[in-house]
Amino acid sequence: MAYSVSEKTERNLNDIMNAAAVKAALDIICEETDRMLKECLELAMIPAPTYHEEKKAAAYGDKLKALGLEDVHSDPFGNILGLRRGSGKGPRILVEAHMDTVFPMDTELTPRYEDDRVYLPGSGDDTSGLACILSVLRALNAADIHTVGDIWFAGTVEEEGMGGLGGMRKLLSKERFDACISIDGTGDSKITYLGTGIRTFEVCFHCRGGHASLDFGTASSSLNAAARAVAKIADIQVHAESGTTYCVSNFHAGNDAGIHAIPRDTSIKINLRSNDPEHLEMLTKDVFTCIEGACCEESARWNADTVTYDWNYIIDVPVARQDAHLPIVEAIYSVYSAVNGSEPFLAPNGATNCTMGIAAGIPSICIGSGCGGGGIHSLDEFIFTDGRYKGIQSALLIILMMAGLDGITDPMAENPE
Ligand SMILES: [Zn+2]
Repeated sequence: MAYSVSEKTERNLNDIMNAAAVKAALDIICEETDRMLKECLELAMIPAPTYHEEKKAAAYGDKLKALGLEDVHSDPFGNILGLRRGSGKGPRILVEAHMDTVFPMDTELTPRYEDDRVYLPGSGDDTSGLACILSVLRALNAADIHTVGDIWFAGTVEEEGMGGLGGMRKLLSKERFDACISIDGTGDSKITYLGTGIRTFEVCFHCRGGHASLDFGTASSSLNAAARAVAKIADIQVHAESGTTYCVSNFHAGNDAGIHAIPRDTSIKINLRSNDPEHLEMLTKDVFTCIEGACCEESARWNADTVTYDWNYIIDVPVARQDAHLPIVEAIYSVYSAVNGSEPFLAPNGATNCTMGIAAGIPSICIGSGCGGGGIHSLDEFIFTDGRYKGIQSALLIILMMAGLDGITDPMAENPE
């Protein structure tokens, strides 16, 4: 069934787009793209692997301050936030992009220009999101636009990898917002409004250990047990329709000093994902059945030592679902349709900070910065230099729809007070 947007939403967008100040802001954005590119590269040249975002946060905070935000500060978790105050009694809107990248501290961060591309690790994901926010702010200021709701603009930490969306999770554990807009990646027509559940955990197998030959036959092996478990896990059948997947991504045992020893400890790491909470739960159970079975089999094989295991979560992101016709989803759908003149794409899954907003019960979406690019998470990551501005315009419009344009539209985000 085709997706459609309510008349009320369409009217709200029309009223905003017909406002003289907004027209001016959209024009300003067309002229903004060189500056956005420059700011993006400047920030992306500051190394910011997950858990080491301080320098980039400081530089970003300076830029937010220079654009007139109030109360620019780091929260206790390293997220940087600044306020653009509304007319009062409106909703609180969060607009954020993440500051961390998947690249280690010593990664070469020099932009390399080639045709209409500039290559720089971390440029698209997600420094372009940070730069998009700065461009939106500059346009709001230059066109003297006032909103009803308060808007908090933020750079968040710990989105990637081991961070596991941690910056956003921690931010939302302390602060209440009525809508969250995440800007992540370089797209200009994809809407993420759902969150895939992700469970990554480590399992450690333990045994008494011993000499490779002298203890043969009278000792079980933690490594054998782990290998048996991995072989069993490899045969698990999953529900493909819910995007359910698994991967054993790590296997560690032994060392060269113990080349002739039965390893006492073996660890594996496993990543499970699903868009269906029940399927994720079933898969988790299946995995642990494999692990327990493997320990029993290895113990029984030698009948001399009992292999045990323990485990801990590395990442535990819940499955996050919300109605596809929430005002925030309809609003961004109407914005993208109007700005691009084509149907946007409602993504059936997602692993973005939007997940944490939804999980906290806040209407949330994630959209791209619009600059276009590719090679995300690789050293060949690039963004385009040809001045694409529609993503920035879309970000401005969705923010205004949710926050309300003072004197013209009511906020679409609901303030429960
Ligand atoms: Zn990202």
